[in-house]
Amino acid sequence: MMRIGLFGGTFDPIHFGHLRAALEVKEGFDLDQIILIPAALPPHKTPSKVTDAADRLKMAELAIINNSDFTVSDIELKRSGPSYSIDTINHFKTLTPAGSDIFFISGLDAFLEIDTWKAYTNLLKQVAFIVIARPMLDCQDSSLRWKRLEDFLISKVSSKYKFSDSSCFEHPEAQPIYTFDVTSLDISSTRIRKLIKTGQSIQFVVPERVEDYIKTRGLYL
Ligand code: ATP
Ligand code: MG
Repeated sequence: MMRIGLFGGTFDPIHFGHLRAALEVKEGFDLDQIILIPAALPPHKTPSKVTDAADRLKMAELAIINNSDFTVSDIELKRSGPSYSIDTINHFKTLTPAGSDIFFISGLDAFLEIDTWKAYTNLLKQVAFIVIARPMLDCQDSSLRWKRLEDFLISKVSSKYKFSDSSCFEHPEAQPIYTFDVTSLDISSTRIRKLIKTGQSIQFVVPERVEDYIKTRGLYL
């Protein structure tokens, strides 16, 4: 039985924060595979400000060359219109063998906007989530760390969510939402784009092949 983690994002560009977090999830949840899914048209971002999907896909592919823990899916690039997670989940549910476990991986920042996602109630019924966050130094107690998520779920999604001792939010009608602490790499694509614009190095922040691709294509200048 396969255990698969789907990790969607704009990946503009993909960086070690994404890759390290996804790898830790793979090990922590004993997954067979992480599938990176660049969004063609992220519903929450201004299209003109986002790099061509083909470039973002290529960078994701370059980032995982020679690494069998990851694959990259171009499914959202093949669909027309905005990239909705619900469509992507349905795609993978029909594609994978019956009995496979599918987990949708999301950063806490992205998850806290799930009430703006298309058909999010249905989405939470269809698939288990793994919400990742960076442990905060001033907040050692992990139940406190996840309080923000709990408040959000109960006030915006459903009052029936309960935090279980397995660090997971459970709901009688929906799939579990697991919480998971990952190594804190304070890297964002926004910061990388700024570094490039101001002529600074992005070495050791993105994989070397991604850095080379950005230079060759003259991205983010
Ligand atoms: P931007 O700054 O343009 O928003 P980003 O770095 O946040 O880019 P996204 O493509 O928006 O990257 O993020 C995809 C997913 O990866 C989101 O769920 C986000 O929370 C998560 N993520 C981004 N950066 C990190 C990081 N350093 N550590 C862990 N997760 C991350
Ligand atoms: Mg982001």
